Amino acid sequence: MPLTKAFAAASATSALAPFQVDRRAVGPHDVQIEIAFCGICHSDIHQVRDEWGGATYPMVPGHEIVGRVTAVGGHVGKFKAGDLAGVGCMVDSCRTCANCARDLEQFCEKGAAFTYNSTEMDRKTQTYGGYSSSVVVDEAFVLRVSPKLDLAATAPLLCAGITTYSPLRYWKTKKGDKVGVVGLGGLGHMAVKIAAAMGAEVTMLSTSPSKEADARKLGATGFGLTSDDATFARLRGHFDLIIDTISAPHDYNKYLGMLRIEGAMVLLGVPPTPTPVAATSLIFGRKILSGSLIGGIAETQEMLDFCAEHGIVSEIELIPVQQVNEAYERMLKGDVRYRFVLDMKTL
Ligand code: NAP
Ligand code: ZN
Ligand code: ZN
Repeated sequence: MPLTKAFAAASATSALAPFQVDRRAVGPHDVQIEIAFCGICHSDIHQVRDEWGGATYPMVPGHEIVGRVTAVGGHVGKFKAGDLAGVGCMVDSCRTCANCARDLEQFCEKGAAFTYNSTEMDRKTQTYGGYSSSVVVDEAFVLRVSPKLDLAATAPLLCAGITTYSPLRYWKTKKGDKVGVVGLGGLGHMAVKIAAAMGAEVTMLSTSPSKEADARKLGATGFGLTSDDATFARLRGHFDLIIDTISAPHDYNKYLGMLRIEGAMVLLGVPPTPTPVAATSLIFGRKILSGSLIGGIAETQEMLDFCAEHGIVSEIELIPVQQVNEAYERMLKGDVRYRFVLDMKTL
């Protein structure tokens, strides 16, 4: 295979720069995709900067991939050349363990093959993500993308979309449920749109007063400024479910106070350092503190179909690949409305 153009980080402290990836030849079950757009997830920043430990370099980030199929292997049934396709956070799993059998490949007992900063299931071959002009993935981990939706704005559904859809479904969000979404960034704005489409009464909980008008446009009917303690008093005992997307350390106890009895708070954000939780924050009200990791492949397809049906896409700022380092800096300042998407034809 000819080398594929990409952008990579050479170390935890270096900026992303042009790089070439040696993608595998298209095997019998593989789909080759020319990448049109790739979203920038905050997990890309955490991993490029090795904030979670164990990072491997050179690293080509990117797990919000959409594009067009350019070739398929002889045993591929789901796709043909010319189809739209998407790839999210995983490219393979063992497919036989109890969790894979339940369509929970993200919790594969052998450890899923993540799209980048990971290895294929041979545990040797490094995976490289979507800041790249093409990718080769087994069809079982390739998603169908609706031509009804704007393609660039669909890319973020592959991570931000499924990561917020999955806990909303797991906690059985329905009409009239009071859902609080914490942090209005890539994940947060998808959580607002999807929860509102499920019929929930959504309140945005944000540190940014300037985002209130946007939150309401996205579907929130309430807004609480989390830099103001009065918000926590006003909304005490209010929520059935809180979806927490904050990427930095913060006090979970304050947010747990806003749950009704037996309500649940789901952590999606992965701050690099732990935060103490007081037992009393959970004991008084039999509350639940939970977490959620992306979603399985079948559920990701279900989410994409749900979004196509409801006309849901991400609010994006489309940028050339060369602006990726600047985009990271802006995201770290909370200055993203609401997902950066890389236009891969600029590579
Ligand atoms: P993002 O676009 O950067 O948004 C994060 C938002 O959190 C910001 O816009 C800001 O919203 C708020 N925030 C940031 N720093 C804060 C601070 N110091 N205190 C309070 N609020 C703060 O990030 P993202 O792409 O949505 O990702 C969010 C987190 O989810 C990251 O940690 C990422 O790694 C993680 N993630 C997890 C999964 C999973 O499967 N669990 C999947 C994808 C991503 P306001 O301005 O509204 O306050
Ligand atoms: Zn992500
Ligand atoms: Zn498995």
